[in-house]
Amino acid sequence: MRKMVIGGNWKMHLGTSEEANTMLNQLIPLVKEVKKVDIIIFPPFTALYSLSFLKNTNIKLGAQNMYFKDEGAFTGEISPQFLKPLGCDHVILGHSERRTIFKETDELINNKVKKALHSSLKPIVCIGENLEERKKGKTMDVIKFQFQNTFKGLSKEEMRNIIIAYEPIWAIGTGETATPEQAEEVHVSIRELLSKKYDKDTSEAVRIQYGGSIKPDNAKELFSQDNIDGGLVGGASLEAESFSKIIIAAQMISK
Ligand code: PEP
Repeated sequence: MRKMVIGGNWKMHLGTSEEANTMLNQLIPLVKEVKKVDIIIFPPFTALYSLSFLKNTNIKLGAQNMYFKDEGAFTGEISPQFLKPLGCDHVILGHSERRTIFKETDELINNKVKKALHSSLKPIVCIGENLEERKKGKTMDVIKFQFQNTFKGLSKEEMRNIIIAYEPIWAIGTGETATPEQAEEVHVSIRELLSKKYDKDTSEAVRIQYGGSIKPDNAKELFSQDNIDGGLVGGASLEAESFSKIIIAAQMISK
């Protein structure tokens, strides 16, 4: 059975050690009994160093991005080798904000995914369509294209170390959530892609999160779907109370 996984993507918020520590000191007691859910937070790079104490808790630490080289003349970039000593074991790659605002391509994301895996970082890889693509009925074409290119050249063992986040762009930060049925339909199709490329066991093993305006009042319904293994949460992960409610919703319906 797949373990539920809830990620908190703080984006460019709570980036000072003071802000990050305040939030986490509120969150830790609220979720300390949660055992059936992997909880990962993704603060800005600037707060990571001050959060190494999380290794003594049930909350894991991840980075929001990384480059695909160990070192070199890459001004402004962060190497996976810098992240590991800080206690990071996960990294978000291919978030739609990276794809749209910073023009990251599937090829670049594929290089980052491979580098993360070789550096013992588990990638959460985001894929998803925009509103125009959904309206034109192109959702699955887009998902298939991103799937093929982002995961190019990966073995099934490598694929099993990846968490896929299905994040319809029209639902991110907009307050508009995909219905549980809309999300489940895409998750089922992603499992079919996994099954076709690898095999049934791999398709059943890979965790697929939903992301897009998850809130305490819609979390339970989304996570109850057979193929939704938790969520990647933006806005509602910035506040301990709302984030803990989402984590507890996942714990309550853990499969
Ligand atoms: C995200 O940033 O991945 C996200 C899903 O954001 P929000 O929950 O705010 O829509």
